[in-house]
Order: sequence, then C-alpha cells, then structure tokens
Amino acid sequence: MEVLEAEVAHALKLLIVDDDDVDRERLRRMLSKSDIDIDISEASSVEDSMTFLDNDDYDCVIIDYRLGLSSGLTLLNTIRTVMESSCAVIMVTGLGDEEVAAEAMRLGASDYLLKSQLQSPQLIHAIISSIHKAELEKKLHDMAHYDNLTGLASRTLLLQNLQHIVVNRDSAAVAFLDLDNFKPINDNYGHDSGDYVLVTIANRLKQIIRKNDTLARIGGDEFVLLLQDVSSQEECDGFLNRLISLVNTPIELAEFECQVQVSASIGVALVSNDSLDADTILRRADQTMYQAKNMGNNNILFFDPEEERRQYQQRAMLQAAERGIARHEFELHFQPQVDMVHHTLLGVEALIRWNHPTMGFLHPCEFSEVLEHPTTGILIGEWVLQEALRQHAIWQINDLVISVNIAPAHLLSKGFVKRLEQLLQNSPNINPKLLELEVLETVSLSDIRNAVDVVKACCKLGVQIALDDFGTGYASLSYLKQLPLNTLKIDQSFVQNLLSNQEDRSIVVCIVELSKAFNYNLIAEGVESREHEQALIDIGCLRGQGYYIAKPIPADKLTTWIQSYQLQHHIH
Ligand code: C2E
Ligand code: MG
Ligand code: MG
Repeated sequence: MEVLEAEVAHALKLLIVDDDDVDRERLRRMLSKSDIDIDISEASSVEDSMTFLDNDDYDCVIIDYRLGLSSGLTLLNTIRTVMESSCAVIMVTGLGDEEVAAEAMRLGASDYLLKSQLQSPQLIHAIISSIHKAELEKKLHDMAHYDNLTGLASRTLLLQNLQHIVVNRDSAAVAFLDLDNFKPINDNYGHDSGDYVLVTIANRLKQIIRKNDTLARIGGDEFVLLLQDVSSQEECDGFLNRLISLVNTPIELAEFECQVQVSASIGVALVSNDSLDADTILRRADQTMYQAKNMGNNNILFFDPEEERRQYQQRAMLQAAERGIARHEFELHFQPQVDMVHHTLLGVEALIRWNHPTMGFLHPCEFSEVLEHPTTGILIGEWVLQEALRQHAIWQINDLVISVNIAPAHLLSKGFVKRLEQLLQNSPNINPKLLELEVLETVSLSDIRNAVDVVKACCKLGVQIALDDFGTGYASLSYLKQLPLNTLKIDQSFVQNLLSNQEDRSIVVCIVELSKAFNYNLIAEGVESREHEQALIDIGCLRGQGYYIAKPIPADKLTTWIQSYQLQHHIH
C-alpha cells in the first residue's frame, strides 16, 4: 500500500495543466473537499508545465487534452519519453472521444476522465489509484531494468542502452567481465559473503565509470561495462588497468576476520561502424571473455574478427565431422610396418581419411582439431578402433598387429579403458596383443599420473602400447620407466635427416641404445628411400614404415601389396 505510505509521509504533490482558468479552479475546488493533504501547483501551458516538472517531482499530473494550440498528448509523450518520468498522469477532456482515450493510454496515461462527468470523489479516487498504478509500474520497470542485489543495470537495460548507441552510430566499448575465483568464496564462506563481495566489486566499479556509461550485472559474477565515446583499444587500456586493480584489491570479510581476493577475465568488443545489433556485440564480448579465461586468470582480451572466423569454421568442421560419422564419410587407410631385413609384414598402422562432401579427400592434418576435440575426437576415435578391429577380422592375416593412433583427449577420457574392454569382448576372434595403441609422447606430460594409470590398465587388457613420434616430446627417462611400453616409434623428422645431419643421426643412435636398454621394440617412421632403410639397419633399427616400403593404402589393396612386396624381395 504505497499510496497510504505516501499519504502519511508527505502531502501529495499534484500539478494541474490546463489553459482554462475556470476549469483549473473547478479541479482545485473538487480536491479541496478531500481529507487528503494535497499540494497543488498549476500551469496554464505546456512550456509553463515543463518548468514545474523540471524543478520538482510530482506524484500526479492532471493534463487537459486541449492546451491552447498544442495537445495534452504532446506533453504526456514528453513526460514519458524525454523526461523518462513514471509519475501518474491523468488526462481530462471535454469530449468523449474513444480514439483520444485510447491514444492517451497508449502514450502512458494512467487514467482518462471526462470533465463533464467529473465529481470530487471520482477525481480523488482516480488520483490515488493512478499513483498506485504508476508506483507498481515503476517497480516492475525497475525489476526488469536493475539488478536487485547491486542496483546496477540489468541485461535488459544494458541491451537497450547499447542498441541506442548502435542506432545512433556512436562509438563505444563493451567490456565483459567475469570474476575468476568467485565460486570458492560462496563455497567456503557462504552466499551472504559471496553477495557482499559482489556488492563491493559493484560499488568499486561504480566509482570509475563516467556519467553516460552503463554498468550492468547480467549473471552471477558477470559484469558488463558499456563505455561511451571510446573507439580504440588504446583509449580503453588505462581504464581497464584501473579496473583490474580495483577488482584485485582484497576484500575484508569481517565475520570471518579474513580477506579474500578475486581477479577477473575481461573480453572487450568495440562498437564499430558496421551496424551490428546489440546482442551480437554483447555476444562478441562474452566469447572474447571466455578466450581470455582460457588463457588463465586475470587477462584482458579484445575481440578479434579473425579469431571469430576461425572459431566459426571450427564449429562448422566439428558439426560436419559428427554428421560425417553417420554418413560413413570416414575411412581408414593402412600403412604396412615391416621387418626391413627379412622383408616380412609385421603390422599395419591405421590412418584416418575423410571424404568430405565439399572439401574433398582430407588427410588427418587437415582436420586435426576435430581429432583432438574432447567430444568429437572421442566419437571418431571410438569409430577408428571399431573399424580397425572389423577390418582385421576381414583380412584374417596371422599375427598381423594393427596399430591405432589414439588422441590424448581420447586416451585420457573417462571410461576409455572400460570401452576398450567392451570392444575387445565384442571381437573375441582377435587376440588383444594384436592391437597396438599409438600414444603421443606429449600426451602424458600434461597429466602424467592419469596417463600412466590408463596405459597400465590398457596393458592389463593385453593390448600393446607404442610411443608415437618419439623424440619430439620431452619424456624423461624416469617417466619412461613408469610406462609399460612395448614399442618406440622414432619420429620421421630424425629419420629423414639421417643421411645429411650428423646430429639427427646421433639421436637415432641414442634411441636405438635406449630401446635396447629398456627392451622396447623399435620402429622407424618415414623411411623414404633405400638409403634410409640401409642406414637404419646399419644403426640397428630393423623395423620400418614409410613411403619407400609402402604408402598408406585402402584395406582391400593390402593383400595385393603383400604379394608384390614378397615378389619384389623373392619371398615365396
Ligand atoms: P603418425 O601417427 O605419425 O602417422 C604417420 C604419418 O606419416 C601419416 O600421415 C603417414 O601417411 C605419414 N607417412 C608415412 N610414411 C611416410 C614417409 O615416408 N614420408 C612422409 N613424409 N610421411 C610419411 P597421415 O596419415 O597424414 O597422418 C598424420 C597424423 O595424423 C598421424 O601421424 C597421426 O598422428 C594422426 N592420425 C592419423 N590417423 C589418426 C586416427 O585415426 N586417429 C588419431 N587420433 N590420429 C590420427
Ligand atoms: Mg602413428
Ligand atoms: Mg608418427
């Protein structure tokens, strides 16, 4: 009952705008019959009324529809749109025109009364209910436009202000700020402390924004600053640095007698002249903030259209890949791995290819981000494993080892070992030791303990493990010792330079020694010529894989290749 409170708190302030002295006097008389304390001002023209409205706050304005040459509707419109006032406004008129009434209500009148029928109780009732209605409307408006906790602008108001800037082609910067380590504060000290931190940050930020800027809170710990008349990164830098240091300043939690400190990740998008809408600009700032967060805490990043294009392409690629699995667009090619001395086939490495509907035949380096992706990469990885085992069963070649490349994210994904076990159970005709997982040396470095556990569990299932591209990562010997490996694959870069580069030759010699010491199988990748093959044999690396021996080939070409390889080396 806001109106009652208002009645008690102060006299109702009322402005009567009417160009007719007699009508004004009539209204005044009607109002004087009420018990309510009403403080009445009178204006006889639009200009006159503006002076009153500029200088004072009124609970209610009564406007005559006919104001000399101008219409009361014009004044009503000015009050609502230019002055942005939400006070009660009652239109009174001599004529009962329904169209005028409808127009008045549309422009934001609280009520519409006919002069001829007007009597004191009806007028007083209209005033009180209009004030009540106006207060409710203001409350609803505030709820939609302001954040309850901090009193900052809401997303709605922010977007309105931003859209305004876009439409006017003004320059501005949108800084999207997300606190980095806020959740632990809620968890450790409770939500009241969390709220206190948010309010403190909000108050600090209020201090540094200028009058025309907008400061909004649009999510739990997400704030947005809309900075007007800023058109370059340089203009933002000083401001953003101050902002960061304000956010970083420790906050005292009196109840717990301690201080907490938060940092923020900030993404900034400039409103440029390319007529984007407010939603898009805010989304750009939001996405840039995410990139900043991914770089680690306390970072500021500016939106980069090139990066957006890249991310868009990546998303498109990921979607295409997921569709591609269902549409059988992927296929495996197989590259023979041989004993270079006895010219016997030991195994094949499965290498994925993608028959992309528009981009053509793709090699894995052209879609590596798909293979390494935490969800799509796993989908494809599972398909590769399944397809490799299926193909192995079709060939029925005794003791043929099939090697499958496993992306780090796939290997370390939850449930990898369980799924592998399931897969092997579904292929009972294949001895698990004929499946070799090629793991990159670098995999493990990010999460050594996890990697060691997974590799050990895979070994328990009986499968073999090869360390791929060996020599390019930084596996330490102590780490190698922990891994139950079967095979090292010397990276092709060393092999290719073997004949020309003394250092690379020394590295290969070292790896040969290492494999002997640890009792690993050793295979060289990228054997491109007879000379390479011979040099490797001379050094003591007897197994090889490379274009000189065979390129990766489709599954149905393997039998033919074996025959020609044996023929070539006089094996019958
Ligand atoms: P990788 O596992 O080291 O595979 C060897 C790559 O070297 C293959 O390229 C192969 O075609 C190529 N290669 C073989 N012999 C020679 C040679 O004599 N000279 C030269 N210059 N290259 C040779 P590819 O098939 O384009 O695969 C590239 C990489 O993509 C692979 O490197 C592997 O890391 C990854 N990859 C391939 N298939 C899969 C897969 O099914 N899943 C995952 N996660 N990754 C895969
Ligand atoms: Mg490999
Ligand atoms: Mg390799």
